[in-house]
Amino acid sequence: MKPNIVVVGSSNTDLVVKLPRLPGKGETVIGGTFSLAAGGKGANQAVAASRAGGSVAFVSKVGDDHFGRQALDAFKNDALDTRFVGVHTTTASGIALIFVDGHGENCIGVASGANSEFLPADVEKARELIISADVLLLQLEIPLSTVEATIRIASDAGVPVLLNPAPAFPLEPSLLRHVSIITPNESEVEILTGMRISDDATIVAASLILRNMGIPAVVITLGARGAYLSEESGDQFVAPFTVDPVDTTAAGDVFSGALAVSIGEGTALRDAVRFASAAAALSVTKLGAQPSAPQRAEIETLLNGTNSRSASYAG
Ligand code: ADP
Repeated sequence: MKPNIVVVGSSNTDLVVKLPRLPGKGETVIGGTFSLAAGGKGANQAVAASRAGGSVAFVSKVGDDHFGRQALDAFKNDALDTRFVGVHTTTASGIALIFVDGHGENCIGVASGANSEFLPADVEKARELIISADVLLLQLEIPLSTVEATIRIASDAGVPVLLNPAPAFPLEPSLLRHVSIITPNESEVEILTGMRISDDATIVAASLILRNMGIPAVVITLGARGAYLSEESGDQFVAPFTVDPVDTTAAGDVFSGALAVSIGEGTALRDAVRFASAAAALSVTKLGAQPSAPQRAEIETLLNGTNSRSASYAG
């Protein structure tokens, strides 16, 4: 049986223009190429969880426009339950305008649009869905009041809450103590704890600060260095899978989506982190956010030692 994963979060459309160089103030740079991609941390993680083997419901909000309809179609293609993706009639779908130069440097402007209109009343409508989930997964790209309401519904019902605290800002301990597992990257953990990450000792110390706020399990993602897991039964660094990176966009999203699935399957956290690491490693071998999220079979192939995206386990 596939685990029931409910993802509550943002949906955006990324409009990307690759340019020879980034324009300065008031300047027009021509010679670019355009691409359009589905994005938003919530949507990325929901798609990643579905491909990793979850039965996934996505709770979100889009606008009544072309981008919103396109996003909904894409969610359905990835087998997401979209009954609780609301459509706001007067606010546009969320978009990100991204300029990228030849060195991969970028500058980004985001119009959150319908994501800003995703309110506690919207998640209240999905209460029955949320309380029947095996795992609730959420991020911070929607209003904080909506995040708080969602966590309260799940936590009161005893549903494990997996929070990917991105984009990060300091959170109240009164909220964090209802979180079961948190997955910050290095810069996010600095914002949450105030602890500057410079070496292994500071990683250990930062995870302890979060554990002392009442979070039972902390998983700090460390990019190409893998991840650090801290839980009641012990702490450990989890080695990464070695890959030739092509594009690390959304590695953290794929990691959290896959982790939710593995936890929902009842896997011990250490092994779930390894599953998530395999999924995330595969994602960095391919361009884009949602296009790079791997299917379950690919993840299992890498976990079992053979793979088609030239990756291997460094542990
Ligand atoms: P974010 O995308 O949120 O900044 P990270 O960069 O920490 O997150 O990456 C998330 C996870 O993706 C890491 O814990 C690791 O498992 C995997 N990962 C990221 N970059 C690489 C890489 N170059 N090689 C292998 N795995 C990677």
